[in-house]
Amino acid sequence: MTKIHIQGIQFDEKSSFQKGPRLAPPLIREALHSGSLNLFTEEGISIEDSAIEDKGDFKILDYFDIETITTKHLNENAKVFTLGGDHSITFPIIKAHHQKYPKLDILHIDAHADLYDHYEGDPYSHACPFARIMENNFAVRLVQVGIRTLNTHQAQQAEKYKVEIHQMKDLDLLNIPTFENPLYISLDMDAFDPAFAPGVSHHEPGGLTSRQVIQLIQNIKTEVIGADIVEYNPERDFQNMTAFLAAKMMKEILGKMI
Ligand code: MN
Ligand code: MN
Repeated sequence: MTKIHIQGIQFDEKSSFQKGPRLAPPLIREALHSGSLNLFTEEGISIEDSAIEDKGDFKILDYFDIETITTKHLNENAKVFTLGGDHSITFPIIKAHHQKYPKLDILHIDAHADLYDHYEGDPYSHACPFARIMENNFAVRLVQVGIRTLNTHQAQQAEKYKVEIHQMKDLDLLNIPTFENPLYISLDMDAFDPAFAPGVSHHEPGGLTSRQVIQLIQNIKTEVIGADIVEYNPERDFQNMTAFLAAKMMKEILGKMI
């Protein structure tokens, strides 16, 4: 039986604009277990499953501890599902996965490509994780969906690293490729239109609907070996609606990992 370990990574030191995502993990869990929703995915899979073990939250003081914690959980013969945290956490998480999965595909759902070579002098900023992942060859394929903020530098980076970008302006969900390698999903909550997810630091209108992201997840045919949900900022939320959306996505993604 495949085990799945849930880890909360409470870290937002590498957010460039507003802090808050370090507060997210316990609030997403609280929404999930509030009694407002049941614990079945839309496809009828229960996430009340003995395979899933919640390892709790980790308050991160040193960025490099994120890799150590993730490696520890992976070595317990488990898949790892992470609640973030800002998006900078995805680089050390993928670095840990690379040991176990030398051939990995990544589905990255975000308003932003997060491909800056460095941002405000920091190569590990939340604007940079996918540049670090690709320059280290930690992913065979990086497929990005929901992007609507490409500038010249990031377009050049995408070309350099052969990133497959599906921008919002010409999105065709039926045209998202199928994956061949074990798949990791990284979901930045600002991929959703701010109408669906106001609780994020960077409001970027013109985004994905809840239904589109659910559909994207449900259409995956390959094995999902890991995932993260990042950038939920409770300080910007309204009536916990982003927490509930994150909880719903957590359920649907866990259902795919079981
Ligand atoms: Mn991001
Ligand atoms: Mn983003």
